Amino acid sequence: MELKKGIGVSSGVAVCQALILSDDDLRIGRRAIHASQIEAEKQRLSAALGASRADIRELRDTSTRGFTSEIAAIFNFHLGLLDDPQLLDTFYQGIEKNRFTAEYAVSRSLREYAKQFLQQKDEYFRDRVKDIYDIERRLITKLQGKDRKLRLSDITEPIALIAHDLTPSQTASLDKTKIKAICIDAGGQTSHTAIIANSMGIPAVVGLENITHEIASGDTVIVNGQSGIVIINPDAATIEEHKKYEERQITFEKNLRRLRDLPARTKDGTEIALMGNIEFPYEVENTLDRGAVGIGLYRTEFLYLASEKEPTEEDHYASYVEVIRKLNGKPIVIRTLDLGADKYTPLMAKDPEDNPFLGLRSIRLCLANLDMFKVQLRAILRASVLGDVRVMFPMVSTPMELRQAKMVLRDVMEELDEANIPYNPYLPVGMMIEVPSAALMAATYAKECDFFSIGTNDLIQYTLAVDRGNQKVASLYTGAHPAVLALIRNVIRVGNRANISVSLCGELGADVEFTVLLVGMGLRTLSITPHSIPEVKKVIRSINLVDAQKVARRVMSFEHSQQILSYLRDETRKIIPEAYGV
Ligand code: PEP
Ligand code: MG
Repeated sequence: MELKKGIGVSSGVAVCQALILSDDDLRIGRRAIHASQIEAEKQRLSAALGASRADIRELRDTSTRGFTSEIAAIFNFHLGLLDDPQLLDTFYQGIEKNRFTAEYAVSRSLREYAKQFLQQKDEYFRDRVKDIYDIERRLITKLQGKDRKLRLSDITEPIALIAHDLTPSQTASLDKTKIKAICIDAGGQTSHTAIIANSMGIPAVVGLENITHEIASGDTVIVNGQSGIVIINPDAATIEEHKKYEERQITFEKNLRRLRDLPARTKDGTEIALMGNIEFPYEVENTLDRGAVGIGLYRTEFLYLASEKEPTEEDHYASYVEVIRKLNGKPIVIRTLDLGADKYTPLMAKDPEDNPFLGLRSIRLCLANLDMFKVQLRAILRASVLGDVRVMFPMVSTPMELRQAKMVLRDVMEELDEANIPYNPYLPVGMMIEVPSAALMAATYAKECDFFSIGTNDLIQYTLAVDRGNQKVASLYTGAHPAVLALIRNVIRVGNRANISVSLCGELGADVEFTVLLVGMGLRTLSITPHSIPEVKKVIRSINLVDAQKVARRVMSFEHSQQILSYLRDETRKIIPEAYGV
């Protein structure tokens, strides 16, 4: 029995046999064709392109039904590549001018293309390189007339899929009834594989480094997608223990569904507004279905990331209207574009920065591109008359930025006045607290905005100097650091004193082991990934505010993250023992 630790990215436990997926090595030899074959070769290529587009469209449409929206964004990126005239031109030129076979022309062009992405040193680009290889594999498979489709089609038993890495298409095409878990060598919390596995509800552990060499197909494995632990060839007692845990988890999840329409209220009557985070309008139904009382974070930049061209005012407006209509009066916090850093558009790829997380991102980027910013603000303002709409600026790092952003908003209001277009002049304006300087200067900002939302994903990385997507420093990335908690506490206190609402919308809010602490620290609004709403609600409904406050005081007296984490784990285990057991 051997134990491996990676990063758990999609919760759940599976006990089953392993299947190693070996990488298909696509080595395409360079072979010249005769001039008389050029036309036929081009036709072969265009047939392969057509068939690939059809496959991707089908994959996108089937895999996004019921799953999250990021999948659609990925496949739209694939389709965008296959429709990119410049790229297609290099394929055809390869055949016509260089007399390459279609396979070689495709492979050579895409590898050149991938190289440009690889040189950027940015995690986002590394992920995109996988997409490019994915397209290469798909086109070559079509050209060679064999459908290698993961070679998983003959699997009859449920298995844990072990791979060095998986491309987005591979992950999304997995049959959930057969693939019970995923373990991969590569990847971090934000990799495409992690995102898709999570949305498909398959337990997954990434960043295992060398698991493909440590497991053989047929070995029994226990995969815990929450703790990130993989046990290879466990003994009978361990298997039994985990099977029981798996069953308890299933019952626990089922019971949670009953909480959907009950309030997130502590036993002694303190109400917590549990809201959901979304990236695309069609996530609203699922979010409400999980019991959210509104949308506390709409990451509008996904409108850009899902499409190759810049969205128009009407594109923005249509998305906002869709969300607002579906919410039927429930509040929606529209965050203005948070582009840059790991959220690159093709346009930005042309002018890369050395330290994009510290560069021209978020509100800085919007203020440097006023036309783009105004297009979005016009759409938000126009939509503001249709429901309970609030606007929020991301990553504000100086009071001047907040003032400038509000000034632009006022300019747009004036333009709408002149055009006689209605909007809500009292639209609440908030800001995200994502950098330590903003948390420390919360009192200054509180005078100038209507609400705060604490973005812990970024606040943690900027406070601790730990890249949130880098698996090499993942063990240093924690919200349980006393410095992070001190900043959060400051923001909550300032907000309460200034009588403006404070919410928290980073992943920390979805971590059930932090719920008691956050409530005890005074947070009354949490906006989290919809999947976690029922479990967080369960904790809230099981505690008394006074006890949560005691926990918060105790935590603030600790000096080390480890102490804090283990104390919070013990406290949470007492509240929801059924969620533990391993
Ligand atoms: C955050 O930083 O916590 C946040 C919610 O924003 P994002 O994850 O989109 O950067
Ligand atoms: Mg952020």
